[in-house]
Amino acid sequence: MNEEKEQNNGSKKKISKEQIKTIVIAVLAVTLLGFVSSDNTQELSNKIENLTDSNNNLSAKIVELNEVLDQKNKEIQNLENAQNEIAANNQISQDTSSSNTLVADSSASQSTSNNINDENKQFVWVGNSGTKYHNQGCRTLKGNGHQITLEKALSEGRQPCKVCH
Ligand SMILES: [Zn+2]
Repeated sequence: MNEEKEQNNGSKKKISKEQIKTIVIAVLAVTLLGFVSSDNTQELSNKIENLTDSNNNLSAKIVELNEVLDQKNKEIQNLENAQNEIAANNQISQDTSSSNTLVADSSASQSTSNNINDENKQFVWVGNSGTKYHNQGCRTLKGNGHQITLEKALSEGRQPCKVCH
């Protein structure tokens, strides 16, 4: 009983010494490893944290830039719309001005042809002699004279009568 106990104690002691050695080494090793690895881990997790931070920052910047991009795209869209509107307005005003020009041209040619017609149709009175032309009923005609076109009178070098013009 006692012997067994001693033996047990002895073997226990022996084992304990070995165990203590092992445990101490193991603890040292683990502590060392843990220290090193925790240092590394700390460093790594710091780096990861930093990277995560910069990642977050970059993500925030990307979001920000995307918003800016969206805004710029909207501005571009607005500018394009405005440009289209201006182009459309220019087109309209061009159309309007060109049609105005057409109207002006046609009215000009109309008035020109009217003038020609008027000139062709405008008659004056000339005496049997003299170098003047008169309105109808000019007293210098004294009931004489005949009607010719103003154009013809002018082409003959006639001047307007000072009495009736
Ligand atoms: Zn006259």
